[in-house]
Amino acid sequence: MNFSINPSANPLPADKRQEILSNPGFGTNFTDHMAMVKYTAGTGWHDAHITARAPITIDPATAVLHYAQEIFEGMKAYKLADGTMALFRPDANAARFNRSARRLAMPELPEEIFLESIRKLVDIDRDWFPDVEGGSIYLRPFMFASEAFLGVRPSNEYLYMVIASPAGGYFKSGAPAIKIWVSQHYSRAAPGGTGAAKCGGNYAASLIAQQEASAHGCDQVVFLDAAEHKWVEELGGMNLFFLLEGGHMITPPTSGTILEGITRKSIIQLARDQGLIVEEKPYSISEWRDDAQSGKLVECFACGTAAVVTPVGTVASEEGEFTIGAGGPGQITQQLRRQLVNIQRGLAEDRYGWVQRID
Ligand SMILES: *Cc1c(COP(=O)(O)O)cnc(C)c1O
Repeated sequence: MNFSINPSANPLPADKRQEILSNPGFGTNFTDHMAMVKYTAGTGWHDAHITARAPITIDPATAVLHYAQEIFEGMKAYKLADGTMALFRPDANAARFNRSARRLAMPELPEEIFLESIRKLVDIDRDWFPDVEGGSIYLRPFMFASEAFLGVRPSNEYLYMVIASPAGGYFKSGAPAIKIWVSQHYSRAAPGGTGAAKCGGNYAASLIAQQEASAHGCDQVVFLDAAEHKWVEELGGMNLFFLLEGGHMITPPTSGTILEGITRKSIIQLARDQGLIVEEKPYSISEWRDDAQSGKLVECFACGTAAVVTPVGTVASEEGEFTIGAGGPGQITQQLRRQLVNIQRGLAEDRYGWVQRID
């Protein structure tokens, strides 16, 4: 499928863009263009184009507004040391997008269309790359039910779009250790539910728990399994790793209720390559507390595309608080973060062909 390209007639003037790029923040500023592809039952995917970023008009009965049939992805375009724009494992995002689509009874998008939409958008908006520490162009592909009707059935029409946003570091100034709140009353995902799909509804359901976390002075919320409220699952948008003494790492298994993070998968590989033993197995909230208190747990971190690798320093719940290690960023955590970032920026050997150049 060929994308027709209609460059914006009114891109932001260069001086205004530079002002934004000197302090891009996260998710509040957007590039000049967007990608769009339509789907109609019977016809399939059609009308692929890159155009000026602009509001879209939708009917008040549009299905997504009522029944939340929507999925998304989150990925970043980086600038390599030699100035080339590149993506990190974009094929994994394309594949996950389709797994999410199947779970939400939506049509799959051919991976080549997904990848082409990303490449074309980054290409036309490459001047939006912020040359700040940890800078990237954050890409948000998404698809929603665009048919106007009220009724509980899959939509017959969908809109796939990609928007892009210049991004600095997600958490201010590198990665200070965060404090997380254990949600003991709210669940993020249940067996058979949508926890493994990247759908907006999961986030909608997690907001109240995130509010509870903020009210307790925490940065993020961690969810336990829905059945027993015993096993540690993940944060609202990041996977968790526990590093025990002796180079032994644990991360909860992705058996349907946990989002299969691409950062998670990459970290598992990098950790194994440097001789750490990584086990994907359930880890309970009481083990977490006991291991932190006994000193057996030496480091803990969360990971995801937006914030890369973020150390977890303190865990709080209605039962009190405990601290991991010295409460600051751990050594192996920082090392894994640096290693991953260096691969993403073309500064370290890319053994597995994770980095895809755009030019
Ligand atoms: C996107 C997401 C992650 C992280 O996935 P990455 O591919 O590493 O960015 C983790 N948990 C949830 C719930 C997510 O939505």
